[in-house]
Amino acid sequence: MKLDKLIVAIDAGHGGSDPGAVGKLHPEKYYNRLVAMHVREVLLQSGAWPYTLRWSQELGGIDDKQFLRLSQRVALINAFRAPDGRSVQAVLCIHHNSGPPEARGLEVWYNTDRDDSMRLASAIYSSMNGLLPLKGRGVKHNRIFTMTKKPVAPSIITEGAFISNPADERWLNEHCQQEAEAIVHGLRIWQP
Ligand SMILES: [Zn+2]
Repeated sequence: MKLDKLIVAIDAGHGGSDPGAVGKLHPEKYYNRLVAMHVREVLLQSGAWPYTLRWSQELGGIDDKQFLRLSQRVALINAFRAPDGRSVQAVLCIHHNSGPPEARGLEVWYNTDRDDSMRLASAIYSSMNGLLPLKGRGVKHNRIFTMTKKPVAPSIITEGAFISNPADERWLNEHCQQEAEAIVHGLRIWQP
């Protein structure tokens, strides 16, 4: 997909009173927001039009100290219109995983009933799996995640590393930018 003027919603998972998973170094919300910030930068440099949740200037006062419910996130994404009137074309929900201490690696989620999201998930996963030195756990799907079910545009969740695994978290702490570049490269190879 050409990134020029592509409208991409970036949803950094959790935030505010909701830390998400808790690592030894930082809570998940910290990594999600940092990766999201880098995704935004890379997209801007590529001519895309990112719409970033959890940023005060774009949300009329909602900042990182406030928690956005999933339904609020979906409503913001579906209502968003770019200056030229177009709506969001892809939704990237940035998360990081937790589980038993030995669990590690990356996975990308989509909704079982959404073929458009499946193609986006496959592209992002194959880019991340090819470019990042994390264990590939595959593309996964279910019918229950609000953020992959409700947005009108193709929507996926990236789980970029297990912050419950010390080695994964140490890597992530140094490489949020690299993860972001891999996510954006996935948009480039995406064939909607
Ligand atoms: Zn999460």
